[in-house]
Amino acid sequence: MNSVVTRIAPSPTGYMHIGTARTALFNWLFARSKKGKFLLRIEDTDEARSKRDTVKTIFESLEWLGLDYDGQAVTQQSRSDRHVEIAKFLLKTNKAYKCFSTQDEIENYRQRAKKQGKSTMFKSPWRNSNPSDHPTLPFCIRIKSPENGQTTIYDKVQGTIQINNDELDDMILLRSTGTPVYMLAVVVDDNDMGVTHIIRGDDHLTNSARQMMIYDAMNWPKPIYAHLPLILDQDGKKLSKRKGALGIEDYRSQGYPASAIRNYLARLGWSHKDDEYFTDTQALEWFSLDNIGKSPSKLDDKKLQNLSRKHITNTEDQKLVREIEAFSRHNKLKSLSEQEVKLLSSAMYCLKTRAKNYKEIIEMAQFIFVQRPIEVEEKFNSQIKDKSVAILKLLTPKLENVSWNRDELESLGKAISETNDLAFGQLATVLRAALVGKAVTPSVFDMMHVLGREETIARITEFFRNN
Ligand code: GLU
Repeated sequence: MNSVVTRIAPSPTGYMHIGTARTALFNWLFARSKKGKFLLRIEDTDEARSKRDTVKTIFESLEWLGLDYDGQAVTQQSRSDRHVEIAKFLLKTNKAYKCFSTQDEIENYRQRAKKQGKSTMFKSPWRNSNPSDHPTLPFCIRIKSPENGQTTIYDKVQGTIQINNDELDDMILLRSTGTPVYMLAVVVDDNDMGVTHIIRGDDHLTNSARQMMIYDAMNWPKPIYAHLPLILDQDGKKLSKRKGALGIEDYRSQGYPASAIRNYLARLGWSHKDDEYFTDTQALEWFSLDNIGKSPSKLDDKKLQNLSRKHITNTEDQKLVREIEAFSRHNKLKSLSEQEVKLLSSAMYCLKTRAKNYKEIIEMAQFIFVQRPIEVEEKFNSQIKDKSVAILKLLTPKLENVSWNRDELESLGKAISETNDLAFGQLATVLRAALVGKAVTPSVFDMMHVLGREETIARITEFFRNN
């Protein structure tokens, strides 16, 4: 087999739809697992939508997702001369023709056909006309669609699909304004880029039959198709922006690691045995077009959260710190000082085991970021007993001498609550109030361990002085 070339061909819509991200991932996995090439083409033929910012989102989203592409991105607009050249070539080789029908004439044709109960697909009277009869009027160029027989798509996912050729219209290749249509541009670009496999959403399935007409007319080798089934929302309905995150950008802003999103997206339509959680290396090893299912897949936030938790837990501490710094920058949060980065690194072991996204890690890490005097959340007022504050006073001198590690601190805490007949939970509550003033935190002993002796004692002393 020739070496594999795949591509992602997003239209710049201003955000990267989760479906596009999934398509990009599948193309990337396939190309990389076959040691082939993964290319990027920006389908910017719709000028109104293709602002510079919307194109930027595509680059940013792919970069964040870690889906690197080969070579330079191709923009469809920049290739318009080549698209025109092919339309003209097809005209010259009699595979296409000039059509002089006006919009009104086409509309009338359709109305008439409708009244007569016939197919409303326009059949141009110019298809077999003699060039000597051609008027000097604006014309478009239409392809000569096959008049009979069937077009067969051998789709890697959908199976063999047959379309009666009488359902295919003589589609326009070049408008009367001289601009090429999208459908022509896709085929010319895919051919010129050497794309061997077209993996895309099944909303493009009928386009494939029409695009194949151009491959046939040009005598170009056809790519292998794999049309991916839809992604539905959690209720099994069509995705809609009102019902939650649709852009990959939203998942990024919520603090999900890109590795978890890749894992989650891979499972939207593709499977390997019963594996839910996997790494990129495993996905690359296992990926095959044969394991893409035919039925639509559903978004599932719970599943994403579970996967994300596992990816975070299994990520090396230093890498997580860098990711959280990048996340903070991206979300325009306060940047971390050198000291905070240091503390965050040493705290990561206890932060990463429970968080399902970076936002939660940052929330749990507040004990590092708060400064004395510590502001204590109101809800502690009703929970803290005088007795527990008194025990803090007993604890402080002992903290001066204990050897400073998590287990020793915990034994000390347990011993002191036992000898003073105080429930351990109550000691933990008051310590939490003193150390950070917030309820969502790692274990108090982990916090003490990370903060160090001096800062821990300072926070506790300040607390019982004020209470
Ligand atoms: N530009 C199309 C889209 O964003 C993709 C076309 C294709 O993959 O052929 O849906």
